[in-house]
Amino acid sequence: MKNEKIRENILTVQNLSAAYEETAVLYGVDLEVRKGEVLCIVGESGSGKSTLIRTICGDPRIMVTEGSIRYRERVWTALKARERQKLLGTQIGLIQQNPWGAFNPIRRIDVQFQETFRSHGLAFDKEKLSEIFCILGLKDTEKLLKMRPYELSGGMNQRIAIAASFVLSPELLLCDEITSALDVTTAMAVTEQLLELKQTNGTTVVLVTHNLGLAKCIADRIAIMHQGCMVECGDTDTILRHPQSDHTRQLLRDVPKLER
Ligand code: ADP
Ligand code: MG
Repeated sequence: MKNEKIRENILTVQNLSAAYEETAVLYGVDLEVRKGEVLCIVGESGSGKSTLIRTICGDPRIMVTEGSIRYRERVWTALKARERQKLLGTQIGLIQQNPWGAFNPIRRIDVQFQETFRSHGLAFDKEKLSEIFCILGLKDTEKLLKMRPYELSGGMNQRIAIAASFVLSPELLLCDEITSALDVTTAMAVTEQLLELKQTNGTTVVLVTHNLGLAKCIADRIAIMHQGCMVECGDTDTILRHPQSDHTRQLLRDVPKLER
C-alpha cells in the first residue's frame, strides 16, 4: 500500500501557532503534505492533533497567532471564511472521530446525501456513491439510503461518513482518529477500505492517530506531535529505525510487541 512515488507538496504548514481564546495550543508547527501520500500524525491525547486539523479547516474557535497554512498556491489562512468554506469538502475533506457526529441521526441518509451534493452545487451521483459503498463493504445502496443513522452501527455510520467525504472527490482528506470509537476488527476493516478508496481515487490522506502501531502499517511518512509542537517528521522507516527524539523513542517502546 505504501507509496513509492512522492510528489509535490499540496499543503504547507509553516511555523504555525494557534490558540483557543486565551489557551495557546500549537507552537511553531511545520508540516508538509505531499500529493498522493498517507501521512500519519501521531501523538498522545492532548498533544494538539485535533487542533491542528481544526486549524487547517478554519475552525472559528481557533485563532492563528503566528505562521501560515498554504494549500497549493493559496495562502489558506488568509482566505475569507466563505472562500474557505467553498473549498472544504471538494478540495479538502474531513472525517472526524465520532461516527454519530457527521449526520443528523433521525433524517434519512439519502436526504442528507442530496443536501451534501446540493450545498456544493453538484447533482446527486448515485452511481458513484454505489461504487464507493461497494468498496466500503456497504451492500444494497438503495436500502441503506432509505435508512436513518440511528438505525445503523457505529462502524456502518463511520463508513457512510467516509463515503460522504469521498463522493465529493477531495484532493486531500483529513481523518481525525476515525476508528477510535470502533472495535478492533471493524477499525481494521474500515482502515483497509479507506486505503483502498484512497488508491482508487488518488486521494492524499492525512490520518491522525494516537496509535503508532497503526501508523507503522499504513503511513508513507509519520509526523510526531507532543505538547503542541511537531517533534519530528520523516519517512516511516526512518522514524521507526532512527527516531531523533526521546519522545518518539518512548512512543516506540509503547507499541505493543505483537505489532512489531
Ligand atoms: P489531541 O487531538 O492530540 O488529543 P487536542 O487538539 O484535542 O489534542 O487538544 C490539545 C489541547 O487543546 C488540550 O490541552 C485541550 O485541552 C485543548 N483544547 C482542545 N479543545 C479545546 C477547546 N475547544 N477550548 C479550549 N481548549 C481546548
Ligand atoms: Mg483529538
